[in-house]
Amino acid sequence: MRNKIVAGNWKMNKDLSATADLIADLKRAMPETEAEVMIAPPFTNLYNAFESLSQSPIEVVAQNMHQAESGAYTGEVSAPMLKSVGINTVILGHSERRAYFGEDDKLLSAKVDTALKNDMRVIFCFGEELEDRKKEKEFEVVAGQLKNALFHLKKEDWSSIVLAYEPVWAIGTGETASPEQAQEMHAFIRKTIADAYDQELADSISILYGGSVKPNNAAEIFSQPDVDGGLIGGASLNADDFMAIVKAI
Ligand code: PEP
Repeated sequence: MRNKIVAGNWKMNKDLSATADLIADLKRAMPETEAEVMIAPPFTNLYNAFESLSQSPIEVVAQNMHQAESGAYTGEVSAPMLKSVGINTVILGHSERRAYFGEDDKLLSAKVDTALKNDMRVIFCFGEELEDRKKEKEFEVVAGQLKNALFHLKKEDWSSIVLAYEPVWAIGTGETASPEQAQEMHAFIRKTIADAYDQELADSISILYGGSVKPNNAAEIFSQPDVDGGLIGGASLNADDFMAIVKAI
């Protein structure tokens, strides 16, 4: 059956010493769990985090990467560079990358291809904005994001894809999708994949929910049948909160 996953996206938070402190706290608080647990520190701390967690089940993942493998792209980081410091998974398509750095489905599709070519696993983020939901276009928008960025993939490529449905209106706002709203969208996502590929593939894909998941709402969201875990922003910066969310799975 598909994996349960809880991943913490630290965004642009924590310098080197704060990263070491948080990792020490996470190691202490890590419970016995069947879930895969991941953290995504900033680029500068990936190698140290990877080294510190080498004896731990917590996986260190990247928040982004460039679509080219090398070249004149000042300020960017490539898939081979990530691999060279022990990183095998990358978050792509986060709504902040889409909103502040102009990343669109076409670019994300190229990034996904580069990640897969380099044997990396992708946590692919997508989700509608508040305006889309007000206009009752959330299903159309989500289906379009999946189709444009991922539906060119071969069936076998999907073993390296984890989906993270993150309604933009729920990210960092304290506003969470209700468990019913999350389930409704996750079931829709699974059906959209089943229609494009087949039910067996759709049933094998882990679909995470992201958007203001906290210790007090995680269990209810994770109890939904099509929710396979969470992508956690704010609450991943505190070890006790993050591990309380891990325990809720
Ligand atoms: C995120 O940034 O992916 C996220 C879900 O953030 P938060 O949990 O803070 O809403």
